[in-house]
Amino acid sequence: MRLVLVGPPGAGKGTQAAVLAEQLGVPHISSGDLFRAHIKGGTELGKQVSSILDEGKLVPDDVTNEMVRERLAEPDTAKGFILDGFPRNTGQADVLAGILAKQDAKIDVVLQFEVPDEELVARLLERGRTDDTEAVIRERQAIYRSETAPLLEYYSDILVTIDAVGDVEEITKRALDALRGR
Ligand code: ADP
Repeated sequence: MRLVLVGPPGAGKGTQAAVLAEQLGVPHISSGDLFRAHIKGGTELGKQVSSILDEGKLVPDDVTNEMVRERLAEPDTAKGFILDGFPRNTGQADVLAGILAKQDAKIDVVLQFEVPDEELVARLLERGRTDDTEAVIRERQAIYRSETAPLLEYYSDILVTIDAVGDVEEITKRALDALRGR
């Protein structure tokens, strides 16, 4: 299954993606994790994007698309994947569709995580990553609304929405139920 997770920062996509990847037997591909690995490893790309992540802005599409293109060329993606954090705008979604079309493939399902705004800031402040200060969180939320939310319309044919408030196990169950038969 080729699955894309969509939801605002703090919706719990990363947590659920790890569990779902295990259950579905496909790799979890997080663009945020890929960037953070580059930063940690001190690569050229890492140096380029480090301050962008700290400010909560989006990395330029050409850099992001190329990084994901390379990841999707790895053989473990042949059986499917869970994309978490990519695409984050419709331009990236077009690029993704192009990458997959070359393999005669397409995204099967887009799973949206729905969480009320008040809950999101509280969760992120608890997590305490370097880009989890209140000002940066608000910036990431604003970018989500302007850049990423249009994906819900873009993917309306294959969109499934779940309530992402509750225990981790409960949300996993909702996700698996929503994916059943897709
Ligand atoms: P969150 O979902 O909590 O915002 P992520 O780990 O998904 O966290 O992303 C962290 C940061 O990495 C983003 O704020 C952004 O700077 C960068 N990033 C991740 N994915 C993308 C993407 N698809 N396009 C551009 N920038 C991205």
